[in-house]
Amino acid sequence: MTAAPPSDALPAPRLVVATRNPGKVRELRRLLGAHSLRVLSLDDAGFRGELDEPGPGYVENALAKAVTVATATGLPTLADDSGIEVDALRGWPGPRSARWMPGSDEDRLHGLLREVEERTPDDRRARYVCVMALANPPAEPVTARGETLGTLVEPRGTAGFGYDPAFLSADLGVRFGEAPDADKDRVSHRARALRRLEEAGVLDLGSAYR
Ligand code: IMP
Repeated sequence: MTAAPPSDALPAPRLVVATRNPGKVRELRRLLGAHSLRVLSLDDAGFRGELDEPGPGYVENALAKAVTVATATGLPTLADDSGIEVDALRGWPGPRSARWMPGSDEDRLHGLLREVEERTPDDRRARYVCVMALANPPAEPVTARGETLGTLVEPRGTAGFGYDPAFLSADLGVRFGEAPDADKDRVSHRARALRRLEEAGVLDLGSAYR
């Protein structure tokens, strides 16, 4: 009888990240670095379909993206739906942060700062929100939420993506646009949502392969 290979010889389980936002892919790869997982982009997984966001909320969007890709690829899939919320504007633009105004991410960053300047110049508090969904059929999909607080200020720095140059983090005391990746990764909405999934034990995908 042949002996079973030692468990450290097993290939790392695969996990697809269901996003076409390169900034999110970079962050998710870093945040998942501590897990022995093979992180696949949508291209790596051969997924060419649409990623619909049925909305209106983060949870529906994250679940729809994770379930669509897990069903099409047959692989465990992690999806993130996130946004920036201006407290004084009752959470606007929220889940519509990537598309409330046509143009580039930079256009939307300056557009958001103009709105804040015109509508609530004396209260610039804002937060990033992320809902992360893990779909790993036949298990029921799981979601977790993370938030990080800050203030919207004049943009500076090239780190991160999206609204990061203007987001002065309350935890770090600097803009995410000027923070080293490792610092953003300690306090970000994405890191906090992922930590909750870790605490729930659902990212231990290796156990499904033993
Ligand atoms: P969606 O989750 O694909 O709908 O897009 C989320 C959008 O929210 C991004 O395109 C960014 O505009 C914004 N956003 C979410 N997380 C971050 C972040 O960590 N930094 C900067 N912008 C973010």
